[in-house]
Amino acid sequence: MDNRSGKGLSFVKRIYLPRILGMAMGLLCVAAAVAPLSPPPWVWLLMLINGLLWPHVAYRWASRSASPYQAEQRNLMLDSLTGGFWAAAMHFNPLPSVTVLSMMTMNNVAAGGKRLIVRGFIAQVAGILLGSALLGTGLQLHTTPLQIYACLPMLTLYPMALGGVCYYLAIKLAEHKRRLSALSLTDSLTGLLNNGAWKDLLLIRFETCRQHQLPSMVALIDIDHFKSINDTFGHVVGDCVLRQISEALKRNLRDADRAGRYGGDEFCVILTAASEAQAWQAMERLREDVASYRNPALPHLRISLSIGIAPFNAGLQSPEHWLEQADKALYSAKHRGRDRVNFAQDEPTPLRLAYPD
Ligand code: GH3
Ligand code: MG
Repeated sequence: MDNRSGKGLSFVKRIYLPRILGMAMGLLCVAAAVAPLSPPPWVWLLMLINGLLWPHVAYRWASRSASPYQAEQRNLMLDSLTGGFWAAAMHFNPLPSVTVLSMMTMNNVAAGGKRLIVRGFIAQVAGILLGSALLGTGLQLHTTPLQIYACLPMLTLYPMALGGVCYYLAIKLAEHKRRLSALSLTDSLTGLLNNGAWKDLLLIRFETCRQHQLPSMVALIDIDHFKSINDTFGHVVGDCVLRQISEALKRNLRDADRAGRYGGDEFCVILTAASEAQAWQAMERLREDVASYRNPALPHLRISLSIGIAPFNAGLQSPEHWLEQADKALYSAKHRGRDRVNFAQDEPTPLRLAYPD
């Protein structure tokens, strides 16, 4: 939270512009209320420094700090302290005092919630005590029309500026949330759906198939002798092979088909509204695509896939049962010599028997 490159620095940047605007408009408000009280010259000087120079000093101070987040919180407390000071200097003229103090409090709520409200309130009281000690106590309970007009920019524009900052922050947060949620569904190495996300999808597709009797397929794909690829060429090459296969999957599947990384060297695909012939062709195309992969830097590297396909049928009791059928078909493909596509043998159909091995 407090690192210079992270939230701290962006927090400081986010506050910079609202503070420039707020302090300038606050200056107008305070000047109109203080002028009739004929304060000493140093009060005017302090007012100008606070209204025009302080936002830039605060920005530099916090952004150069080792802990910008904490430094910015300190700056907000100094804002509250000076807010209290000016309320005392204005002899608590109601409208300008409430305007200045409530805008400071709004900042504190937006920046730090309950904790900063309490600390800000203490800082405001300290500022009032300091102002009263230096300038004497007084009460000016009448606000002139000029003073009302001087408060209007702060009352209207500043909430808009702060609201804009909060809105921008909310949009950014929603974007981060979307990205995080996408990340939680994705396998980091291949960019495909991860095991959990793919299984959730399988459950949905299973229910859809059951309700609408859609011809859909589940395919499990396993790299042949992947362990020896790792052992011979190293794990970096192994990872590269896994990525190549995810690319081949994207090339050879339709948009409606959903591929995932089942785990290790195993991939999984749901082919929706696909006939057995279409599923077989797609998986055969994938198998051939992967088999034709050549890497000039590794001339001996060859990749082959064993693929098991299980069609949806009304006799399946659950998505796990469907997956189990595909797993059996995959096991059988391995058993029969690898580098092939194999259908689940539960319910042979004439069409299935027509496919070559
Ligand atoms: P088979 O033909 O019977 O499938 O043999 P295989 O060697 O492919 O089977 P096995 O399941 O024994 O090997 C899978 C290997 O995949 C073992 C594991 O080290 C490796 N592996 C699993 N995840 C990763 C990964 O993310 N990257 C790499 N490089 N290797 C992985
Ligand atoms: Mg394998």
